[in-house]
Parts: sequence; structure tokens; C-alpha cells
Amino acid sequence: EVRTRFAPSPTGHLHIGGARTALFNYLFAKKHGGKFIVRIEDTDLERSSIESEKVILESLRWLGIEWDEGVEVGGPYGPYRSTERVDIYKKYVDILFEKGYAYHCYCTEEELEYQRQQLLSQGKMPRYTGKCRNLTDAEKRKLEAEGRKPAVRFKVLEGVKIVVHDLVRGDVEFLSDDIGDFVIVKSDGIPTYNFAVVIDDHLMKISHVIRGEEHLSNTPRQILIYNALGFDLPQFAHVSLILGKDRTKMSKRHGSTWVEQYREKGYLKEGLINFLALLGWSPEENIEIFDMQYLIENFSLERVSKNPAIFDLDKLNYINSQHIKQKSLDELTMLSIPYLVEAGYIKETEAKEKFEWLKKIVKSVYEGLDYLAQIKDKVDIFFNNEVKIEDNDAKEVLKWEHVKHLIDVFESKIKEAGELTVDTIKALFKEIQKETGYKGKNLFMPIRVALTGKTHGPELVEIIEILGKENILKRLEFFKT
Ligand code: GLU
Repeated sequence: EVRTRFAPSPTGHLHIGGARTALFNYLFAKKHGGKFIVRIEDTDLERSSIESEKVILESLRWLGIEWDEGVEVGGPYGPYRSTERVDIYKKYVDILFEKGYAYHCYCTEEELEYQRQQLLSQGKMPRYTGKCRNLTDAEKRKLEAEGRKPAVRFKVLEGVKIVVHDLVRGDVEFLSDDIGDFVIVKSDGIPTYNFAVVIDDHLMKISHVIRGEEHLSNTPRQILIYNALGFDLPQFAHVSLILGKDRTKMSKRHGSTWVEQYREKGYLKEGLINFLALLGWSPEENIEIFDMQYLIENFSLERVSKNPAIFDLDKLNYINSQHIKQKSLDELTMLSIPYLVEAGYIKETEAKEKFEWLKKIVKSVYEGLDYLAQIKDKVDIFFNNEVKIEDNDAKEVLKWEHVKHLIDVFESKIKEAGELTVDTIKALFKEIQKETGYKGKNLFMPIRVALTGKTHGPELVEIIEILGKENILKRLEFFKT
């Protein structure tokens, strides 16, 4: 059975890279009818927090990446939080001691630093020297009497070649001599990530470990532990780093890095999922807009590239705009309301009664949106009848000779008009054209400027319909003063 997992450390927000890892694990499990597990790796007590865990889980759920087993939902192999599994780890530490793979290390931070500096000054790679490997019982008792609390180190045998069979990168070789004995339990009794992850993946029957390339160098250490405990290895797949367009590691400079930030800006989960999938994976067909169902059916690790993925915000915007176009108007309006409230255009309590009207507003602009927060600047024209003309192009239009005459005619036509619908408005323009001879830009532009203060925006006919007679007359009144 395919069983994958996402195992975030709760030390911050869900980053784009983490979301991509979670998605790939989810897709791979779903594609193969397997299970997807979410486990929290909170072994770094100082940096971990329950708030961060909540934020990460909330972001995953928002994206639609639901888990079959794990924190909050439970499952047969829990608990799913490292700090709740300390007793379980202890059992395996004992086994490693029995087998001679583990030993206590009493070195202090200062001593370790000194050893590092020594090796560096000899031009060697810094790694643990094995100082405490062969302490006698008497030596240990002496160190303990000084009040030292030992860490536990894993004994890495020299001269061993470790090969990671990676489903994305092929065989990657490491030499044990470069690794050095590493800590598996810190002096506070908490296991390290490299140890806990092996025990957890084994006990949770994880079949495929799909994670970021930054963990590739941890994998040989983990393999040594698997082998020492006689556990079967899972399959490994390390997906590439995400770089900015300038080919440096993705960071704040390249745009927002957390899923939440995109959510707040009004990116759709569908758009973000589509974009995340393309960070390293590509479909066989030549298409780039698809949904989760398509991904579940088509995802494969063979089509995950080992080249770095490039984070391209323009591409995300394009993809998201395509998903916006696919949404129903009702849903888009619902999703847009918070931005309209935030901008102060409407009160939250009015949203329901004004829904049909808001729908028209959304309809007039949604095709030009990359993400929903942009709606604020596009629909401002509908919400204030005191239209200020600040735009330079608009000011130019007002210098045209016929403007006053045109606006007077327009005003009287609006006064006479019955209900303003797209059809009656079109007819009204035809009449004005016939009577005055003004047409095209000469006809529409001054009216647009008078009504909105701008030379561009939604279709004028739609603007007029949305504003309605009363607002238009108020605006024309204001315009003339
Ligand atoms: N807790 C690790 C991280 O957040 C996960 C590593 C793994 O997937 O093995 O990077």
C-alpha cells in the first residue's frame, strides 16, 4: 500500500515549498489509492509552537489537501506529534545501545566548537571526532558527577558507501567518512529529527518519502539508522529547490512566501494548487490549467524534474486569472465581499441585501483580475457619487469642445428614461448619436469621464446599468458644479 506523509516542523507558516511537498505527497497517495498522513515534527522545542501548527494545518485544509491519518484526525499509528512519541523513541534508542550503535557523549558546546575549529585549521571537514566513543565507565561517572547531561550519538562506521536510490535524482552516493557520529538524542532527552523521522516513517509504514532536496544530505544518516535497526527502507524522492527568477533561493524578495499571504490577497486555492503542481512537475499533455482531480489522475514522480523549479509570480497571476474566469459569479461575489468590506465600500451587514447588485459589479471586472484583492481598485468607481477627476487623460477629455453639450443631452435622456437596462441604454446612446452627430470615442469618453473620473474601466453600458438612474443624476449634478 502506498503511504506518504507530510511532516512539517511547526516553526512558522506554511511556505510555498512546504505546500508543494505536501501536494506532491497527497497526489502520489491519491493517485495510487493510498493514504496521506500529516505528522508534526516538533522536536525543536524552542522554535516549535502550537500556533504555528494550527496555521500550517489551516493552510493545508484551505488548499484542499486533506489527510487520512495524522494530527487532529487520528489514525492507527498515532500519536502524530513527535513530542508525544518520546517513549516510543526511547525503546529504539535502547536497541541501538544494545547493538553497539549508540553511545553517550558528554562534550559541551564549547568543546565541540573547539574540536570544529581544530579540524578547520587543519584544513579538514568539521565533524564529530568521536571523542566520547570509548569512554570507560569510570570516566563517564566522573563526567556525570560534574553534572554533565549526556547526549546520545550514533556510531557511524568508517569506510561505508551509502547509496540513496532516489526516484527523482537516481542513485546518489555518500561516504560515511564525511558524516561523523551524529546526535540522535539531545541532552534534554528529546530525539533529533534525523532519528525520530526514521522511527516514525517505519512505524507509520510510510512507503514513499517525498520531500525537499534540502533533506537529501540527511538521508544517508537516516539510512544508517534504518540499517542498524534492521528496518526496510522506504522509497525516497527529493524534489528540487524552488528558486526565484534570478536563480537564487526563493525568499521574501521574490514575493510572498507563505500560503496564507496568497490566500489573503485573494488567490484561489484552485489557482495556487495548479501553480504549485507546476513547480517541478509537468503534465504529459501540453496544458497548464487544470484542477485537483486532473492532478490526482495524472501525477507521477517520473514527471518530476530534478532541475530547480522557478517561482514566477507572473505565471501564478496568469494561472489564477484563468481559475477566476472559471468560477461561478455567485461564488466570485461571495469571495469578493471581504475585499469590498475591507475597502469600506459596503458594510458586512449590507452584503446580503445588495448581493444581486454586487454580482453585477463583480461581473463587470472579474475578467481583468489576477487575484481578488485587486477588485478594490477596479470597482471604486461604483461607490462614490462625488467623482473627482484627477487622472490626466481624463482631464484632457474634458477640454473637448462638445463636452458640455453632450453631457446636457445625456442628462436629459437619462431623466426621461424608464428602467436602465443594457438594451435601453444602448438605444439611448443611438438616439443621442442621431440627434447630436457625436459618435464613438467622442460620444462615450466624456460620459465615461463624467461618471467615473477615468478614461478606462468596465463597459460603459454596464457601468450605467449598475449605477442606475439616481446615482447617475447625482454624479452629473456633481460634475457640473
Ligand atoms: N520536519 C521536516 C521539515 O519540516 C520534514 C523532513 C522530512 O520530510 O523528512 O523540513
